[in-house]
Amino acid sequence: MPLLIKNGHIITASEDYVADIFCENETITRIGQNLDAPKDATLIDAKGKYVFPGFIDPHVHIHLPAMGTFAKDTHETGSKAALVGGTTTIIEMAGQSRAEQPMKDGFQLWLSKAEGHSACDFTFHQTVSRMDKECEGQLTEIVNAGIPSFKVYLAYKGAFGITDEELYHTMRLAKKLGVIVTGHCENADLVLESQRKLLAEGKTGPEWHYWSRPPLVQAEGVHHFTTFAEMHDTHCYVVHTNCEESLREALAAAARGVHVWVEILIEHLVLDKSFAELPNFEGAKYLMSPPLPEKKNQEVFWNALRQRFVSTVATDHAPFDFKGQKEMGRGDFTKIPNGIPALEDRVNLLYTHGVCEGRLDLNTFVDCASTQAAKLFGLFPRKGTIAVGSDADLVVYDPDYRSKISQQTQLMNVDYNAFEGWEIKGRPSVVTIRGEVAVKDGKFVGKLGRGKLIKREPTHF
Ligand code: MN
Ligand code: MN
Repeated sequence: MPLLIKNGHIITASEDYVADIFCENETITRIGQNLDAPKDATLIDAKGKYVFPGFIDPHVHIHLPAMGTFAKDTHETGSKAALVGGTTTIIEMAGQSRAEQPMKDGFQLWLSKAEGHSACDFTFHQTVSRMDKECEGQLTEIVNAGIPSFKVYLAYKGAFGITDEELYHTMRLAKKLGVIVTGHCENADLVLESQRKLLAEGKTGPEWHYWSRPPLVQAEGVHHFTTFAEMHDTHCYVVHTNCEESLREALAAAARGVHVWVEILIEHLVLDKSFAELPNFEGAKYLMSPPLPEKKNQEVFWNALRQRFVSTVATDHAPFDFKGQKEMGRGDFTKIPNGIPALEDRVNLLYTHGVCEGRLDLNTFVDCASTQAAKLFGLFPRKGTIAVGSDADLVVYDPDYRSKISQQTQLMNVDYNAFEGWEIKGRPSVVTIRGEVAVKDGKFVGKLGRGKLIKREPTHF
């Protein structure tokens, strides 16, 4: 059915104007003043509201086996939460471990969890948890199937982590295929030995997690990762940069010519290490890797976003219940499943703490929450902007809406919210995905299974 959005204040990464948007056959077909629409068109009055391109979360976990359990969201619950929060496309980590091979079976498993279930569009970063001749062939097939981005872990030795020899060959293959390599940069041995030391000293609570992966550990990882990329001139992307020390390493690499981009997480922008130190094991709700940083990093990150040294704001969404799951790590912080759920709240938090606080202008807000992810990962201009020919993924955003975040009202399938009681200033009132209304008055009205795999072309040669 055709769709007409009237009088919206349209904001893209580079534009700011008032116009009507007409959409047909899943795409934006006209933008202009006083557009008419056929009688059967869905009409949305966006007067006094912003219209943003659908937001993109470039770092999400939905199907996630960890520590003998699974993250709580499915693509049904996760995509509903994403859409209500204004996110119309997610990039999930397709992540089988080193023991589970072949790689292409892992990819098929992750795809099968999403396809036919998701209400939002999706794609994947393919985890490279092993590298040899056979993997090279399979990775090439996966790239050719429309997945031109890899994920490597320098941490998690023996599970997802790869050796330096494998990293070398991964970077070489990526360069050949035009693939961008995303990297979790923490030195595996420094983490492991620090964990052993802390546990041996009886330091077992969630507040000690930070000290098992202090800033040095990530800074070393970023230097390591960007050096391997530099050897092959491979394009690379540092996920969840959490401190000034690692940002400096990424910028130093960029300054010597490495094609490196930086991601930060909304959690790291607004939460700090004191949350992970809450008493009575409450800190476990705030345990993720890399850990919540010292508060002083937040102003560094806001400035880095403003200056566009940092490209994207993601979530690393990984929801585990406090009861029964986070609790598995009572008496041993290394057994607490990692993750702070935020898929539903990312955009509203970034708007509230970024735009409303005067830290980000509206164009920069759209750039870091949508456009840059689209450009880096081969989705642009189909996604990430509002233009004739682009997918009709649109967020009609009400800047006058006021509410508080609560687990009671969230769609994420998890028993807590890390931002419980926090005020949000604004929310998506209407969200469309490829021309169909999926959120109306802030409520999910979309169709499960309508979301599809968006095939991408390699661009990072
Ligand atoms: Mn990670
Ligand atoms: Mn992750």
